[in-house]
Amino acid sequence: MDDCCAVPTTPAKGEADRLPILEQGGRSLCPTCGRAGRKIERLTVKSLLARPLDVLRPGDYFFCETADCPTVYYHAEGQCFSEADLRERVYQKHPQDDTILVCYCFQHTLGAIRREALGGGGSRIVEAVTAGVQAGQCACEVRNPQGRCCLGNVRAAARRDA
Ligand SMILES: [Zn+2]
Repeated sequence: MDDCCAVPTTPAKGEADRLPILEQGGRSLCPTCGRAGRKIERLTVKSLLARPLDVLRPGDYFFCETADCPTVYYHAEGQCFSEADLRERVYQKHPQDDTILVCYCFQHTLGAIRREALGGGGSRIVEAVTAGVQAGQCACEVRNPQGRCCLGNVRAAARRDA
């Protein structure tokens, strides 16, 4: 598990401009890729881990969004979890994979969003996700590995091929 930290990877060129703006504060550098990650709620880590939860350490965990970095969650003291430790594949790690879920609550894949976008005329998936969120049907903090709403990602994916 900690082995992932021993293999530094080179950040991909052009990656930074696709990353969302990091929130102020709560940052910590990923031990694997060296990029700043965002603090993630402990409940999200607990929900997504496919491992016995007694591996968790006290203190904050962070989410690494770097696509070519194998680390998904990490602890400030160096503990790392990759997708192999999780119950879900992570959209940020496969930003070009049509089979990856972008919306984990309503189960919309990147491919479905892209196909719809190619047809033009707006995104019914964006509308459906928005309606679901407004209806309180989402559970982003326990279903989405990023621990927060997917809507920004869904909109961006719909725009990319529009
Ligand atoms: Zn990383």
